[in-house]
Amino acid sequence: MDQGQSQTHDYLIINRVQLLNDSGCSACGGAFSQSPAGDKALVVTIGEGGRTFIFCGGCGDNIMGRVTSDEVRRHYVWDWAVPLRDGRAAPPSA
Ligand SMILES: [Zn+2]
Repeated sequence: MDQGQSQTHDYLIINRVQLLNDSGCSACGGAFSQSPAGDKALVVTIGEGGRTFIFCGGCGDNIMGRVTSDEVRRHYVWDWAVPLRDGRAAPPSA
């Protein structure tokens, strides 16, 4: 049976179309917006396994400000992190 107490949120990463469970910003650990509009987020996928790291807008700006090589910059993409209700992709009720 489900515990029904899970406080975690899943986020849909727009453009990458990827689900991310609630791990927060990889740099500051901050949570992403829980508003339906979502949050601007920096996503980087690196390594042979394609590990994905996601950063909040503030940390993302900071990171991109330090990136000086176009070669490195290509690994980073600005996306939106949109929370899914109760961690489930439930259809909106009418
Ligand atoms: Zn952050």
